[in-house]
Amino acid sequence: MLADKDRIFTNIYGFQEKSRKACMARGDWDKTADIIKKGRDWIISEVKDSRLRGRGGAGFSTGMKWSFMPKEAAPGRPHFLAINADEGEPGTCKDREIIRNEPHKLIEGALLAGFAIGAHTAYIYIRGEFYREAEVLQTAIDEAYEAGLLGKNAAQSGWDLDIYIHRGMGAYVCGEESALIQSIEGKKGQPRLKPPFPANCGIYGCPTTVNNVESIAVVPAILRRGASWWAGIGRENNTGIKIYAISGHVNTPCIVEDAMSVPLKDLIEKHAGGVRGGWDNLLGVIPGGCSVPVMPKSTCADILMDYDSLRDAGSGLGTAAVIVMDKSTDIIKAITRLSRFYMHESCGQCTPCREGTGWLWRMMERMVEGNIAIEEIDILEEVTRQIEGNTICALGDAAAWPIQGLIQNFRPEIERRIAKFNNRAA
Ligand code: SF4
Repeated sequence: MLADKDRIFTNIYGFQEKSRKACMARGDWDKTADIIKKGRDWIISEVKDSRLRGRGGAGFSTGMKWSFMPKEAAPGRPHFLAINADEGEPGTCKDREIIRNEPHKLIEGALLAGFAIGAHTAYIYIRGEFYREAEVLQTAIDEAYEAGLLGKNAAQSGWDLDIYIHRGMGAYVCGEESALIQSIEGKKGQPRLKPPFPANCGIYGCPTTVNNVESIAVVPAILRRGASWWAGIGRENNTGIKIYAISGHVNTPCIVEDAMSVPLKDLIEKHAGGVRGGWDNLLGVIPGGCSVPVMPKSTCADILMDYDSLRDAGSGLGTAAVIVMDKSTDIIKAITRLSRFYMHESCGQCTPCREGTGWLWRMMERMVEGNIAIEEIDILEEVTRQIEGNTICALGDAAAWPIQGLIQNFRPEIERRIAKFNNRAA
């Protein structure tokens, strides 16, 4: 359990004001210039030493990502920071709360990150549906300009930074970094082939770093309190503080700030009021937003909520959006709903994803009824394997993994469904 003294997001529930003055009273913008004066190398090495891993889902080292940027901007090739506030992963609503209630953590983090990667311009790419959140963010940005915290010589640091909000139009795939870059450029939001990676060729062909909102919003705290403070929370390679979102069949769905590597059962029982009908009524949990495999109850009792533990259990931390399902859930139907989502959101560039996601959904629709041959379970699994890893972006994997998790963990239920259908038909 996270100690109160270690909390960063002390206004995550919005009980207090979110104005600049109120945020400053809670510690934001405290001697930001002094941090910047320690230099770019110091900032990057602190973030590296903290072992902060990207909070958008992939879990790549944030400090390492920053270090891939060229040391100096070449003539005519400015550096850009793009902050991913697209938050389209079903079940995920953590960045929304940061923007709503702690906007200055994000803006201060943008200044520090922008300086570290040599960017004078930052774009915050926010999903179109976050209309009110975009308003809150714009108000906070305006306040920061008025107070001299952005623009020329931002926060008296000697560094210039401008921030622009770019509103998306609701496509899930624009949360993928290269699709997000395309969208910022005013093009169709479709992922690009990599390499080249954004650190070499990002927005308008210039070096760009794309980071998630939460990753950026925790940077000021890391740099103020020190890398060793952050690295001392959680466990080896899975450090720091995390915002979890818990939804579904729990008594009190919520988002909560806690330590990385907290037990999943504690999250559900202590923060979300427990599973509806008690722990024994639990069927399964999707621990990281809808693109990671569902885990059965037997795995959920002892699992830790972090990158490595969930990967070892055949699932993933993803965005740490915990979707709890009790025994009233038709698990095949639930996963079918996700399949439909991925089919709808496929941008259509790669054949395995464009054709495969529709094929998976149609198979899943039949599976809900039990109207498939028993051998087709393995055929379905095989098709997911042919999609996985064979597409431009991770949407193909995201479409494949929930079905793989279903087959791996709930095969007896699928077989029961088929037997029931056959009995009815006989
Ligand atoms: Fe588009 Fe799907 Fe290919 Fe991603 S995997 S680029 S969403 S077709």
